[in-house]
Amino acid sequence: MNMKNYDVIIVGTGVGGCFTALHLPEDKKVLMITKSQLEESDSFLAQGGICVLRDENDFDSFFEDTLRAGHYKNKKESVEIMINSSRETIDELIKFGVDFENKDGELLYTREGAHSKPRILYHEDVTGKEITQKLLAQVKKRKNIEILEYTTMVDIITKENKCIGVVIKKDEEITPVFAENIVLATGGIGGIYENSTNFPHLTGDSLAICKNHGVKLKDISYIQIHPTSLYSKKPGRKFLVSESVRGEGALLYDKNFERFTDELIPRDKLTEKINAQMKKDNTNFVWLDMREIIKKGIDIEKRFPNIIKKCREEGYEPTKECIPVVPAQHYFMGGIDVDSNSQTSMKNLYAVGETSCNGVHGANRLASNSLLESLVFAKRVADHINSKNEKNEMAVEEIDLEKYKNLTKLFQDYKNLIFKEIEEDKIRKGEENE
Ligand SMILES: Cc1cc2nc3c(=O)[nH]c(=O)nc-3n(C[C@H](O)[C@H](O)[C@H](O)COP(=O)(O)OP(=O)(O)OC[C@H]3O[C@@H](n4cnc5c(N)ncnc54)[C@H](O)[C@@H]3O)c2cc1C
Repeated sequence: MNMKNYDVIIVGTGVGGCFTALHLPEDKKVLMITKSQLEESDSFLAQGGICVLRDENDFDSFFEDTLRAGHYKNKKESVEIMINSSRETIDELIKFGVDFENKDGELLYTREGAHSKPRILYHEDVTGKEITQKLLAQVKKRKNIEILEYTTMVDIITKENKCIGVVIKKDEEITPVFAENIVLATGGIGGIYENSTNFPHLTGDSLAICKNHGVKLKDISYIQIHPTSLYSKKPGRKFLVSESVRGEGALLYDKNFERFTDELIPRDKLTEKINAQMKKDNTNFVWLDMREIIKKGIDIEKRFPNIIKKCREEGYEPTKECIPVVPAQHYFMGGIDVDSNSQTSMKNLYAVGETSCNGVHGANRLASNSLLESLVFAKRVADHINSKNEKNEMAVEEIDLEKYKNLTKLFQDYKNLIFKEIEEDKIRKGEENE
């Protein structure tokens, strides 16, 4: 591969990466890379939906729901930006061809845990797939955007506290690639955990790389465990049973098929309740009863086709029996510290989506806020890049590629570094709370 220069390099092709790319003008030469194939990002996995401000009267309650779920550790300015930009973001998605559930053109809203009212738009139970594939279709039409699959960022290249490029690995070849602006949209950290609903290749590489280059991280011990993944003895990614299932009325039972909690309390609280119940019952899971949704007159095969299919593949018939569920690592609220334009502490380096931390989610994310947050702040990255007047002279640096020869060790080091940082952040936060 020849060494190339770009205006913008975007690492990651989920909603964060795609929406950034789509807001860059067509005279900018853009490179997008993804570690795996295009369809393998967590953006494709989002089931429940995406939040939106329903009308002006909903602002206070949306704001309060987000803060209450986040234990009031949220950055209020970021929450305001997200909510105030939500309508225009949804309008844009619809313009890009995203099909949200509607009745005669009127959008339908569902509800999930810790929301005081229904304000979530959805597409069956595969909202993320619908949004991401429509965005990717638009990205592919743009002649100024080059996409490389199975291409891994192994490091960033810096010069005098400026980011000037990334080191990538493709087909066993290690190559430096230079750009004026670099956007990290590398998603979550589930891949470093044994039980997670995330794709295993999402191992938080950007965090370790940033740490090594002195780029600030924030709140990286804020990790969300989803209360309900489908219990399975099989290894690999755990299948999420969306919160909207409980939002539509499904109930949780202990080993004696008796309720033990309010199903719609925030995720972290519900996870604690389920873990305590499993300990008390000495079981590896609790039961989830979707038949309660049918009793409300809702056709669960139509509302949750993907979840029903998966349950059947695992040998359960949710229209007739309860299914076993267990908590699993799900989402990462902390990340690379960014301002409201998603700028990191290093010049020309941006971070967006789950790998970034702009403080929207505080200590715990409100359901269906992450797709929205990723999209809103992705547009702001592009707007910020577009607003820069200065034309940087393209910097090129001699790189010692020898140090990337043993990538297995390098990525193990990255993983160890992330766990170490998480533990240190926990200790710091514990001391602050004393
Ligand atoms: C099962 C599940 C259900 C969810 N449901 C919802 C929901 O209903 N509503 C909601 O709002 N949110 C939901 N979420 C969360 C939401 O999907 C994610 O937070 C969001 O999609 C993150 O988007 P992203 O663009 O930041 O990252 P991702 O979509 O995860 O994309 C990350 C990209 O970075 C690439 N990458 C990573 N490391 C490297 C590297 N070193 N080099 C090159 N490329 C790299 C990956 O290959 C990928 O392309 C859900 C998440 C999961 C796992």
